[in-house]
Amino acid sequence: MKLEQPLQKVLLDLSTALRAQAAGGNAKTTSPEQDALDVAVSEQTRLRDAASAAQMAVDDMENEILRIQSDERKLRRRKKDGQDALGAETDENRRRDLSHDVYTAKSRIADLMSELQEAHNEIHALRNNRDLAQSRVKDAERKVAEAREAVAEAEAKSQEAEDPAVVIAALEEQLPDAALAEFRAQRLENGVGAALFNGRSCGGCAMVLSASGIAEIRNTPKGEVPQCPECGSYLITDIS
Ligand SMILES: [Zn+2]
Repeated sequence: MKLEQPLQKVLLDLSTALRAQAAGGNAKTTSPEQDALDVAVSEQTRLRDAASAAQMAVDDMENEILRIQSDERKLRRRKKDGQDALGAETDENRRRDLSHDVYTAKSRIADLMSELQEAHNEIHALRNNRDLAQSRVKDAERKVAEAREAVAEAEAKSQEAEDPAVVIAALEEQLPDAALAEFRAQRLENGVGAALFNGRSCGGCAMVLSASGIAEIRNTPKGEVPQCPECGSYLITDIS
C-alpha cells in the first residue's frame, strides 16, 4: 500500500476505531458531572427531610399553644363561675371550698400563662429554624438544576466528540481512496486491516515475526506500508 508517512498514523487510528466500535467499546463511564449531580440530589433529599422535620416541630408547637389557650379559657370560666357563686354563697364551709376553687384556678392560669410565654418563645425559634431549612432546600434545588444542566451539556458534548461513527468518518475522509480500499479489503480478510508494529511482533495477530520478516518491514520505503507476513495486516511502524 502506498501511503504517505503522516497518513499512516491516520490509518492506524481508523483501524483502532473500527475495532473498538466492533467490540461495542462505547462503554458508559460515569462523568464528573454525573457524580456532582448525584451528590447534589442526595444533599437535596437530606435538606428536604430536615425542612419537613422543622415544619413538623412548628406544627407541634402551634398545637401545643392552641391546647394551652383552650385550657386557659376553661380555667377562666371556672374562676368566674367560682367568683359568681362566692358572691351569692353565705355558708362558711361552702365559701371556703369555693375560695379554694378560685384560688386553684388562678394559680393554674398563672402556670399556663408562663407555659404560653415559653411556647411563644420556642415557636419563634422553631419558625426561624424552619425558614432557614426551607431556604437551604431552595439553594439545594437550584444546585440540582444547575448540575442537571451540566450533565446534559457534558453528554451532548461527549456524543459529538466521541460518537464512533463520526470519528471513523473523519479519519476515512483523510485517507486516499486507493489506500482506503486496500485497507478495507484487508480488514474484510482478517478482521484487523492495519496494526502497530512494535519492532518485534504484529499488533494484529500478536505473532513475533522472524528476523527476515522484520528486516523486510524495516526495508520498506517510507511512503509505503508493509504487511505482516503472518496475517497480512498493514503494519504502521512509525507513529511519532
Ligand atoms: Zn500479523
